[in-house]
Order: sequence, then structure tokens, then C-alpha cells
Amino acid sequence: MDVLKKIKLSFTLSLIVVLVFYIFGQIILPSERDVLVLESNKFNADWEQISDNGDRIPVEVPGKVKAEPGEEVRVVTTLPADMDTEQVMAFSTIWQDAKIYIDGELRAEYSTKDTRPFGKNSTFRYVFVELRKGDSGKELMYCLTTGTKYSGTIRNIYIGDKVDIILDLFVSKSAVTIPAALLFILSLFGIAVCVFLRVIYKKHLTVSYLIIAMMLCSIWMISELEFRQILFSNISVLACLTYVSVMLISVPFVLFINEVQNERYSKIFSVPLTYNMIVFVGATMLQVMNIVDFVDVLPFAHVGIIIASVCIIVTMINEIRNKKIKEYKYVSIGILGLVVSTFFEIILYYLNFTNTIGTALVAGLLFLLLMAVVKTGQDLMETEKKKHEAILAREAQSNFLANMSHEIRTPINAIIGMNEMVLREASDENVIEYSNAIRSSSQSLLSIINDVLDISKIESGKMEIVESNYELSSLITDCHNVVIERVRAKGLNLHIECDENCPVVLCGDVAHIRQVIINLLTNAVKYTENGDVYFRIKGEKYDDQWYLMVEVEDTGIGIAKENIDKLFVKFERFDLQKNRSVEGTGLGLNIVKSFVELMGGTIKVESEYGKGSLFTIRIPQKIMNPAPIGKINTASVVRGKQPAKRVSDFIAPQAKILIVDDVPANLHVFINLVKHYKMQVDTATCGQQCLSLAAQTKYDMIFMDHMMPEMDGIETLGNLKKDPDNLNSDTVVIMLTANALIGMKEMYLEKGFTDYLSKPVIPEKLENMIDRYLSDDKKISPDSASSAGKGDGVSTHANDAKTVDNSTPLQRLKRLMPDVNTQSAIRYCGGEEDMYIELLRDYTAEGIYNRLSEAYDKMDFKAYELEVHTLKSTSRTLGFDKLGNIAERMQLAAAQNDADTINTVHDDMMSLYKKILDTLAEVLQ
Ligand code: ADP
Repeated sequence: MDVLKKIKLSFTLSLIVVLVFYIFGQIILPSERDVLVLESNKFNADWEQISDNGDRIPVEVPGKVKAEPGEEVRVVTTLPADMDTEQVMAFSTIWQDAKIYIDGELRAEYSTKDTRPFGKNSTFRYVFVELRKGDSGKELMYCLTTGTKYSGTIRNIYIGDKVDIILDLFVSKSAVTIPAALLFILSLFGIAVCVFLRVIYKKHLTVSYLIIAMMLCSIWMISELEFRQILFSNISVLACLTYVSVMLISVPFVLFINEVQNERYSKIFSVPLTYNMIVFVGATMLQVMNIVDFVDVLPFAHVGIIIASVCIIVTMINEIRNKKIKEYKYVSIGILGLVVSTFFEIILYYLNFTNTIGTALVAGLLFLLLMAVVKTGQDLMETEKKKHEAILAREAQSNFLANMSHEIRTPINAIIGMNEMVLREASDENVIEYSNAIRSSSQSLLSIINDVLDISKIESGKMEIVESNYELSSLITDCHNVVIERVRAKGLNLHIECDENCPVVLCGDVAHIRQVIINLLTNAVKYTENGDVYFRIKGEKYDDQWYLMVEVEDTGIGIAKENIDKLFVKFERFDLQKNRSVEGTGLGLNIVKSFVELMGGTIKVESEYGKGSLFTIRIPQKIMNPAPIGKINTASVVRGKQPAKRVSDFIAPQAKILIVDDVPANLHVFINLVKHYKMQVDTATCGQQCLSLAAQTKYDMIFMDHMMPEMDGIETLGNLKKDPDNLNSDTVVIMLTANALIGMKEMYLEKGFTDYLSKPVIPEKLENMIDRYLSDDKKISPDSASSAGKGDGVSTHANDAKTVDNSTPLQRLKRLMPDVNTQSAIRYCGGEEDMYIELLRDYTAEGIYNRLSEAYDKMDFKAYELEVHTLKSTSRTLGFDKLGNIAERMQLAAAQNDADTINTVHDDMMSLYKKILDTLAEVLQ
């Protein structure tokens, strides 16, 4: 241990010693106070009790005489002959009515029967009698009545100056008063802190139950103070608080311990909790109905405290046995402190230190509070640490999700695009059917990925609200168009009702609003088997804003009452039995709610199980053109869903376009999507290639991918614009991006792009874009083109070997693998090109590759020999002579168990084989 540590330890020990010295000094050592000692004011005299028949029996005062409850006890004495008449006498009563007579004259009376809220007896209090001239030597009679167990109890009587007596009471009880007041103030402050944390931060502190227990304890001590009649107006009410706090005190205590022990013993603790609550409710009812006073049920409350204490002790012993006590070692030290202080309290009580009653207990309680606060502090720090870690983890998770979904979107783009081409070109019904299945599955996969991306953006707080002006009618049409196909497919009726007073143009985040409405409409359709779906648009003006209100109602399966609260929780789906066939992730409504709230709006749902649901959203929007929208002709909306005029009604053989994308499959898709325009298409697989092409050719449009290695789309455009002499300074450049986040469009426009298309490219959107940005003089009708003999296909430049045109597989194979001996191969096929292509397909499907790898892994030379033999002959037949020759060498090596040759050549052979298979896959699709 280093010196500093030793000093710290000895300093702490010194403080403890000083504290102990002080406490013991004050409590144990004789008093040195010489002013206002109550004892010296005690009225000592010989007393006699007067019985009913007038007999006088000498009695001890203070003391207890024989008396039935309710019976009036009368005791008499003679006042001293030499009395100072400025003095007062103070009679201490306990739950008794009192009358004091001097020389037969009633000089003081105490009874609360007209002022107490309930109860049959007056509470404890001092009754003062002012002495007059001539009272000396007279007879003093003191009459007491009570229905309680205190019948016959006669407490201390004092004589002296009134102020002296009161001050004396104050000072003599200061050992209790000060700690009680301190405890009260502390608990009041603690409760304020707990309420603040609860209301503002929705945080519950375990220590709050302990603070409540302390508050009850301080109330109990304060309400028991001997001079309470000077501080409080109605002491009958105060006296009730004494009993209430005693009956309730163990409840928050037990709840505190239960929470500290992580509710491991809830069952055991339910016993004292239930008992104490029954005692409290029962005693209160009996008291309010004036059947039994609180004071008489006090033993039941004490039993409650004992039961609670036993339960706490038992559970703590068990915790020690199970080594769980470590979890809350500070609290257990605090409880130990409380036990020790209670022990002292009892000792002090029996040593008759009545003026210090409660002091040791308060010290113990304060110690426990201190320990509990230390534990709470530790817990809070732990929670903060965990929160911080969780934030980091969530950030990492959302970055991962964002990256992953971007990565996943790229291949899906290719799948959707390729499939679109299949759909356009296929005539076989089976193929169309399969292709439709691919379309719907990939669309739903894409929408799940979009949902996941949205959720990760929302959770990481990166979801932006981007406002722009929009026409309400377009919003309605868009939403309608998206869902109408599904509505039709299910045979439902969609009703659109728009309030004529809605403003024509609003300003808000229309993309998000559209997404929200489409989500609600899609759900309405998904969860409705037959009947109607209502899409209502209305709103109201308030503070210059338009509170756009959209209702989506359906006559579908509805939502059970117990599920309504969980509706907006992530991944919650209901009625899975019924909805087995309905696709979904349970993310949609969570996103809807987040979007609506981000836009400062609200969402509510009403639903009747089996009958249908009504979702209502209300979002504030700025009014840009307040003219009323008027009657929205639903027929015109419906017309909006008709496929827009096919822009491929024109062709543009003179137009030159450049497509830049690092993924060949994307280029492939794109070329096919634009092929019916018969434009001259150039492709580039990187930014650099784009710049060199753009330096030579003036393009009408450039479609540029965003994410590319080395130089991304934004950088490429930046470099293109930097060159003052470049041919393409005014060329329309469209960003192609899978990063279709809200708010990105504005970013792209700012960077100099003319517009953007999100991937996967939707053919209609692409067509609209070409129609919009391609100058009219480049567009000609297909008929005039054929008469002019122009434009017989896509003109592709030879700068990119991967560019795919509409050539045959054989042509493509020759271009991609010029060293394939196709001539001899076709000869083998009897000169039939189609047969050769068929054989190539079989070759790719043979599975030799996997079997060879397996045989190699197992070093199974027999199997290896068999496979390379087949590979040799088929490869040679199909013109892959190089591979055929290697296979022959390997066949020989396998036959001779020549592991060395096999090990050296195997990888090279396999990579050549793989390259051939990959090329064939591309060629044959
Ligand atoms: P998903 O539809 O992908 O499952 P949502 O978050 O959109 O996820 O919806 C969560 C659940 O709420 C659904 O699984 C469904 O049980 C229920 N639900 C949503 N909309 C409706 C509706 N209009 N009618 C009945 N149930 C609905």
C-alpha cells in the first residue's frame, strides 16, 4: 500500500472515531446543561384517588391507577402554601380528556370531541393551568377519562414559568427534533428529485422507495414530538399521521429491498405487503366509522413490521448463501448499519433515554440512505456506460445495415433489370410466368431492404425531412397508381374522396408522405379479402398551415383490441394463422409512425376485429397556393393509372448517349432497356474511361453511376466540368444510384447533375427521362426511320469488350474468347451452330468442376482420373483445346499417382476451367 493510500485510510478512520466519540459523548455521558432542565420543574406532591363512593386512596403520580376504559379517574392533592402565582402547571395527558379543578372551580378542560375528524378519544397533549393569587394551599383535582388502554394512566405534571416549560420541552427533545427535521427535509428533497427524474426522463430510481420510507419515518417522529401542539393547528389530524406512518412504513421498505434484490423474492415479500395493506385499509375503515381507534390496532401494525423484518432477514441470509449479496454490497452494508442502530435504539430505550428516542434509528436510516445513494450512483454510471456502448453498437449496426443494403441492392438491380428484359422479349408462357414470379419476389426483397434501410436511418437519427412544393392531386394520383393493380387483382373497390377545399399546392416532404400513404393503402389491400378500401383526403387550416388529414379505411380482417397497442412496434405481426399467405415483415407501420412523427404529425387507428380498420394521419403542411383543389375527378385519377404514353413511340438514331457503370451487368441491363430507341450507345466502366470518351465525343445524354471504384460519379462529373473546352459542358447528366435516400436528389442536383434515376431503373421512368431531356430534333418516328433506312440497331462503340449488343451467343463467344476453336467444334456438330450452343449449355451444367474439386480435396486419384478424362474429351470437342490438353496431362498424372504434378497444375487448370464456365454463363444468357 503506498503512503497516500495509508493517509487516506487513516483520515477516514479518524473521522469515524471523531463521529463515534461525539455521538457517544452526547448520548452516554452525563448532561452538563444547567439551564432549563425539565426534571427541576416536576410537580411533586402526595396524591389521592377519589373513588365513586368518596373513599380516598393514596396513589403515585406519575403512575397508573386501576380504572376501566371510559371510567373517569379523579386524583386530588393540596397545592403548596408558598406558591409563586406567576407560574403555570402543565398536565401531560395521553389519549385522555382532562378537567382540572382548583378549590372546586373548573380551571382547564381538554376534549377534542368537537374538533377531531373521527375517533372516540382525544389525542396526547399538554394541558396548561395558570395559577392565581390565593391558589396556594387549595385543593387541586385532576380528572381523566379515556376509552383506550391508557385509562388510569397519569403522566408527569410540571409547574413553573410557561415559557420555561415550553423551551425546556424543545431543548430536551432536540436530540429527536433535529434529526427528524433533517430526515424530513432530506426525504422531501429526495422525493422532488425522484419525481423530476420520473416525469422528465421517465427514469425510476430504486432509492425512491427508501426515500418514501424515510419520509414516513420522519413524519412519525415529528408527529410524536411532545411540543407538537405549539407547531400544528389540529393535533388530532397530526396524531392520525403517526399511526398511518407506522402502519405503512414497512411497505416502501420491503419494495426497496425487493427491487434491490432484483425481485427474486417477490412471492415472499407479497406476504408482509399484503398484510400491511390489509391492516392499513381495515384500521382506516374502522377508525373512520368510529368503531375502533387507530391507537387500539397499533399492535397489528407492529406485527406487520416484525413480519417484514423477518422476511428481509430471511431473504438476505439466502442472498449471502447464494453469493448474490455482492450485487448490492453497499445497500447490505447500509442495512447492517440500520440493524446496529436499531440495536442501540433498543438499548437506549431500556436505559430510559426517553429524550433521545429515534435518534439512533435516524442515524441508521441516514447511513442506509447514503449507501443506497452510492448504489444508485453506481447503477446510473453503469447504465450510462451501457447506453453509450449501445449507442456505439447501434451506430455500427446502422452503418452495417446501410452498407449491406446498398451492397444487396446492386445485385437485385441486375436481377430486376435482366428480368425486365426477359419479360419484354419472352413469348413462351412458362418463361413469362417464371419471370413474373422473379419480378414479384425481387420487388418484395427490394422493399424489405428499403424498409431495413429506412429503419436504420431513423434509428441513427439520419433520416432527413426534405420539403418541396407539390400538387396535392399528383400525390393522390401517384398513390392511387401504385396500389391500383393490387386492388384490381384482389377484386376490391377503391374509393377516393378528396375534400374540395384542400389547397392546390402544398409544401412538405412529399416523398415521405407518399411512402406513408402507400404503406397504409397497401396494408388495407393486403388485409382485406373482399369489400372496399377508402382513401380520403381532407384537412383544416390552422395558423397559416394546412393540417393534411388522410384516412385509409378498409373492410378487412381488422385488428384485435389487445394488438392495437403493439401495432407500431417493429417486427410485430398479428393473426399469423389467418395471414399465413400475406407477406410482410412487421416493419411498415413502425416506419410510417416514425415518418409521421418526424414530420410533426400524428397517426391514430380505430379498428373492429373482423370488420375493418381506419388509419388516420394528420401532418402540418405549408400552403403554397391556397386555391381550392375543387372536385377531384376520380375518373381522372383512375385514368392516371393507365400506362403513360409509351415514349418509345420515337427512335433517335442520331442521339449519342454514354453509360458509365463499373458493373457490366448493369451496363447490359441498361443497353437493353434503351435499345428500342436505336440510339448510339457508348459505355464506360470507370470514371477515367468516361472522361476520355467525353473528350472525343459530344453526347446528348450521359447516365452516370454514383458508386464506382477510384473515381466515383460525382468526382467524374466534377472533373468533366473542370475542363473549360470539354465537348459536354451542356450535356444532360443523369445520376444512376442505388443510394435512393430521401434528400439525395437535392444533393445530386447541387453537384451538377441534371436529374437522377434510382436503381433498379424502372423502364417507364427511364423512358420518361429520355423523352424529357432528349432534344426533339433527335427524335423521329419509327416509320420515318424505316423509310429513311436508318437506325437498324444499337450502335455500340468497341471501347468496351463487355458491351453487349444483340449479337448471337456464338458471336459473343468469339468476341470474348477469340482463342476458342469454334470452327472445329462446329464441324464436330455437323456444322449446326444451334447444336453447338446446346452442347455448350450442357457443358456448363455437367458439374465436373465440383466433382473434380472434391476428388482433389480427398486425393482420390481414381475419381480424379475419371473426371479429367471426361473434361479432356468434352473440352476438345467444344474447341477448348488448351483446357483439353491440360486435362490430358492430368489424366496421365492421376493414372500414375503423380501427386506432385497434380498439386502443381491443379489450380491453374481449375482457374482456366472456371474462366471458361463464367464466360459461357455470360454468353449463353
Ligand atoms: P407487415 O404488413 O409487413 O406485416 P406492418 O408494420 O405494416 O407490417 O403491419 C403490422 C401488422 O399490423 C400486420 O402484420 C397486420 O397484422 C397488422 N395490420 C396492419 N394494417 C392492417 C390493416 N389495415 N388491417 C388489419 N391488420 C393490419
